[in-house]
Amino acid sequence: MTNSLSPSKDSKEAIKPSNFLRQIIENDLSQGTYADRKWAGSPGDASHQSVGKNDPAKVRLRFPPEPNGYLHIGHAKSICINFGLAKEYGGVCHMRFDDTNPEKEDTEYVNSILDAVKWLGFNWNFNAVEHLYQASDYFEYMFDAACLLIKAGLAYVDEQSADEMRRNRGDFVTPGTDSPYRVRTVEENLNRFNEMRSGKLPDASAVLRAKIDMAHPNINMRDPAIYRIRHATHHHTGDKWCIYPMYTFAHPIEDALEQITHSICTLEFEDQRPFYDWLMQRLIEGGMFTNPPPHQYEFARLNLTYVLTSKRKLKQLVDENLVHGWDDPRMPTIAGLRRRGYTPQSLQLFAERIGVTKSDSWIDYSTLEIALRDDLDPIASRASVVLDPLRLRITNWDELMGSGHKEPCKAPLHPHIPERGQRNFSMGSQVWIERGDYQDTPVKGFFRLFPGNKVRLKYGFVIECTGCVKNEQGEIVEVLAALIPNTKSGTPGSDSVKVKGVITWVSVEEALSIEVRIYDRLFTEAHPDAGGRDPLSVLNPNSLKVITAFAEPDLNNCAPDEKYQFERHGYFVADRMDHSKNKPVFNKITGLKDQWNN
Ligand code: ATP
Ligand code: MG
Repeated sequence: MTNSLSPSKDSKEAIKPSNFLRQIIENDLSQGTYADRKWAGSPGDASHQSVGKNDPAKVRLRFPPEPNGYLHIGHAKSICINFGLAKEYGGVCHMRFDDTNPEKEDTEYVNSILDAVKWLGFNWNFNAVEHLYQASDYFEYMFDAACLLIKAGLAYVDEQSADEMRRNRGDFVTPGTDSPYRVRTVEENLNRFNEMRSGKLPDASAVLRAKIDMAHPNINMRDPAIYRIRHATHHHTGDKWCIYPMYTFAHPIEDALEQITHSICTLEFEDQRPFYDWLMQRLIEGGMFTNPPPHQYEFARLNLTYVLTSKRKLKQLVDENLVHGWDDPRMPTIAGLRRRGYTPQSLQLFAERIGVTKSDSWIDYSTLEIALRDDLDPIASRASVVLDPLRLRITNWDELMGSGHKEPCKAPLHPHIPERGQRNFSMGSQVWIERGDYQDTPVKGFFRLFPGNKVRLKYGFVIECTGCVKNEQGEIVEVLAALIPNTKSGTPGSDSVKVKGVITWVSVEEALSIEVRIYDRLFTEAHPDAGGRDPLSVLNPNSLKVITAFAEPDLNNCAPDEKYQFERHGYFVADRMDHSKNKPVFNKITGLKDQWNN
């Protein structure tokens, strides 16, 4: 299903609409659910936190990415929700790297994630304390939690083969079967778990499982594995550990250690919530944590048409050189969107407009572009640029204006914000116009240049087309026109000659040659990975076109990352990596209106 949201411009200023997460938080705040929660200044268990003061942060949320790739637009939604709610309700959002998998660290990923969150306009600072954490710092606590469960008779070391374990788990209609290892004594389990830790057992030979109920209707509660053996060097803890906690066990403990109040995740974790709550209760009973525990809430992940939102699949595009890196302007990564010309405000606006729901749906890509245009329209300066140049020669220029005369022209930097000032350029006897603005034999309804027709050169004079020059192949190489005197824009009587067409142009003499990178969607299908399809099979071969265009001279002064509206063409940004004064490079951000839905 495609959600077609077309919010009006006013909704930018509208009051933030309520959603179920805001309601939950407001309810907790009014009931004082977490009012007595202590915070000792750093993460820790009950004995650590109990000596702290009442937590000055009204709520604690967290954003917990795995540092295994660059963040994408889906993460942007999660960032806006978590950091946004924390800010709104006088709390803090912890930035936490969920690095419980002993995968090779990539500081490139860690740094890119921190950059992305900051660029989006958020931080993890509260009362001058940086709340930047990594889950691997908590391994000792997690080990203690596991021992606590074993001692309470609530966990056991299972040494069935992976196959046996799978078979004995049952399915939706069949209850599971108890493992023969389920009856091990506490002492036996403690010894064996310590042997797992000490490195005596090879990978995959044993797991620690929570002892809950093999007949539980929720399969996730049928004695889920909580620790596995993995002889691998962890980027942070080195070779200290050869057993690693499973995500479903680690995550609630991370939340509790950090005194998180609202642990917000995507819907696929809904079935894990009973285990989250079970674990919290058992660890509270065991004295490791105190009531009230953090609580997990789920929202629908973002699915955007024509876009992949999986770090793994995006990594494949990068690894196979199908794009030019993680920040390729075609990528839906935050780094890519930034380079493409998206603003933090446009992404925040988008996140606010799509809202937070509890049912999965697809958001139409145009929703993102509408938010972008709404943000760019008031801030982007206007500029004249000819993307597909054709020379136009004003044959009576020398006679009327004098040979070599340059006529100064001016135009507003922004048509609705006169205070922004003017841009200046000049007109000479030859100008570049868009190839599409001339037709030898006009089709019906064509009001621009054709022999005998008059048009206005925007901010300049009215001209009358007199014909064109063709080369030997019959291709049009030059359009010819005569200038009509006393028609210069802004001068008295200039509109005495009525025209139906106004066209943009750039003086040949002054034109600044610029590289323009025109981007199209990366995929030809709205749901590139639907039904298990390999998204590479629907890659758009024409997602990048590089052209040389001619721009008005002032564009020479623009800084990387500066955004413009090229009149008639859309929004463009000076590429933040490749643009320089000597070699201007612009990326097309988006057109002036939706090109896809009409
Ligand atoms: P991926 O499969 O792309 O790696 P992930 O969910 O494994 O995504 P994490 O790094 O674990 O990525 O995610 C950090 C946070 O971002 C999680 O809370 C996750 O729920 C959230 N998140 C990830 N993808 C989306 C999405 N498409 N929409 C909303 N939130 C998302
Ligand atoms: Mg993940």
